Amino acid sequence: MAYLELKGIEKFFGDLRAIKGIDLAINPGEFIVFVGPSGCGKSTLLRLIAGLEHIDGGRLMLDGRDITDLPSSKRDLAMVFQSYALYPHMSVFENMSFALKLAGVDPSVIKDKVERAAKILNLTQYLDRTPKALSGGQRQRVAIGRAIVRAPKVFLFDEPLSNLDAALRGQTRVEIAKLHRDLGATTIYVTHDQVEAMTLADRVVVLRDGVIEQVGTPLELYDKPANQFVAQFIGTPQMNVVAADKLPQLEAVYGLPVPAGGFVGLRPEYVTLKTAGSGVVQGTVELVEALGAETLIYVATDRGAQLVSRQSTRTNLRAGDSVGVDIDADAAHLFDAQGRISRP
Ligand code: ATP
Repeated sequence: MAYLELKGIEKFFGDLRAIKGIDLAINPGEFIVFVGPSGCGKSTLLRLIAGLEHIDGGRLMLDGRDITDLPSSKRDLAMVFQSYALYPHMSVFENMSFALKLAGVDPSVIKDKVERAAKILNLTQYLDRTPKALSGGQRQRVAIGRAIVRAPKVFLFDEPLSNLDAALRGQTRVEIAKLHRDLGATTIYVTHDQVEAMTLADRVVVLRDGVIEQVGTPLELYDKPANQFVAQFIGTPQMNVVAADKLPQLEAVYGLPVPAGGFVGLRPEYVTLKTAGSGVVQGTVELVEALGAETLIYVATDRGAQLVSRQSTRTNLRAGDSVGVDIDADAAHLFDAQGRISRP
């Protein structure tokens, strides 16, 4: 049985139907990530689960209990915000112990729990400091520590890393992954960063306009996107999606059943560049991005298709060079004119 279950969840803001009947079953211990473009409803959905917004329709079940109408404080969930929301005048120890103290937990038990959480999060030496004497990453760890000591049934994270710089974001992401491995707590994590989604999630939920477009493991979404929207949302650089009539070779050379008026999707790693004259398509290099471990080469084909090729080797190609392009037709995704998948 699902641990946390969303059944037909609805949310209106005035006339705006922000969440449109969402069904989702989350297993105990799962790390679930909500992703989607700005305004798709991911924060709202998390806040509905947290009890910070009123659920307008549907039911929310946690561990066999209907919690739809329970106030936030009674739901046994802990939320970690992007803004940390620490008490500035309290020490790290006091911040982490606050909820337990309010709940009347014995001081020696509190001390034990806080010290254990501090150890897990490498905060032991900072317990006496106030938040202003900490770095952004340390503050975020205190916010996580505050959630851990409560041992909630579910952890909720709302873009917890978005105030950190790129290096610290990467580091803290790894820490969150380890923490989940160690604690095994059921977690829901909202982000617009798909690297976070792909690296942290057991399953990713892709949202658009208040509905779920697809739920799957990171690699399922990458390899078998349900539609053009998911195909282009997951993966960096984006999947190449080209009007089928700009790549007639796919039908002529490879016999692919390209739908009329449809589109062809190719991940950049399945587009290979060769010397001009060879390959199934001819084109001109427009831009080379040498990233060190990989190189991205942007090509305009003779029929006006824009393709990006990803290769793990370095290149001597320059903008303006003529190239031949080969395509791994087996890896091509075919979409009809509405962006629906037309070949699995
Ligand atoms: P972002 O990535 O930009 O944070 P999001 O996917 O988290 O976006 P939400 O914040 O959940 O999106 O918003 C979903 C929709 O609901 C948006 O159209 C937003 O404008 C609207 N919305 C959210 N909160 C409110 C509110 N309190 N009052 C009115 N409309 C709201």
